[in-house]
Amino acid sequence: MNSITEKGLQPQLNDYFAKMINSQKLAHAYIFAGPEGSGKKELATWIAQGIYCENCVAGHPCQKCAECIRIASGNQPDVVHVAPEGLSIKVDQIRFLKDEFSKSGVESNRKVFIIENAEKMTSSAANSLLKFLEEPSGQVIAFLLTEKPNSLLPTIISRCQLFELRPLSDKQLLFLLEKEGIPEEKAVLLSRLTDSPTLARKLAENNDFEKLSVNVCQWYLHILQNDWLCFVEVQTKLLTYISNKEDEKIVFDLLLLLGKNSLELRSGGEDQSAFKKYQSQLKEQLDKLSIDKVSAGTELFLESLHLLQINISFQNTIEALTLKLCRCYHG
Ligand SMILES: [Zn+2]
Repeated sequence: MNSITEKGLQPQLNDYFAKMINSQKLAHAYIFAGPEGSGKKELATWIAQGIYCENCVAGHPCQKCAECIRIASGNQPDVVHVAPEGLSIKVDQIRFLKDEFSKSGVESNRKVFIIENAEKMTSSAANSLLKFLEEPSGQVIAFLLTEKPNSLLPTIISRCQLFELRPLSDKQLLFLLEKEGIPEEKAVLLSRLTDSPTLARKLAENNDFEKLSVNVCQWYLHILQNDWLCFVEVQTKLLTYISNKEDEKIVFDLLLLLGKNSLELRSGGEDQSAFKKYQSQLKEQLDKLSIDKVSAGTELFLESLHLLQINISFQNTIEALTLKLCRCYHG
């Protein structure tokens, strides 16, 4: 079995919490803050399993016993999940939680609460939760999960232990995507393009994305070959895929990745190119250029990102980038 699944998405935190479970030193309330896909819910679930597991070894749940399986499938009555109803977590939902808090566990005397998107608590819901956090009762542990810790009330943050979870590494995301059946070539590209599993899955199902990534490579190859077609292709191959700001960002992220990948390919440092189908053609062209030129080209990609951020239009930015890259590579 791959070490990533054995150790979870956040192996260091799993080890830390195993120690806390084993020595019965878990706190009453935790905030897990981190980007989408960083494993906040998985970690909270894993800790809950560690608390109830029938064959727990040194704080590590077995993942196989009836309790571990029930918790993983959300069917353990003492592990309660709260997620936003619509746009917010409302006071009724927290009241429900508080009622649950006041009962002892249905099947044991311990209860675990997992509050997703905790930043979406309305202020009355948050205040209601605060009251509970001020008087932790019995053997209750609450996990507040959030992508936006700064949107939580400071009074809530001060009553919880805050842990920041790192985004998934390229390798972790690649493993996840391949496990879900996304073909290797596509999974490699997506894992290097984004750290969000949701966006990666969405793009994996989008046929336009596949065409777009091919078009981006062809446009760039024409630049490297000093072929004037690259100027036409801005219009015909890149802009045709754009209908909103989100699309612009994806095109641009692909370009940035291509810029970064060029330097890796030229310096021989990257054995697995993000654009596998075009790897040998790109390398062949890049090897004809000095490493200084390729490096300057990569900087031009980054500079364009800056132009885009200060609101220069997308089309102008890409056209200017095409021109500058041609000058940079072919003098
Ligand atoms: Zn177990």
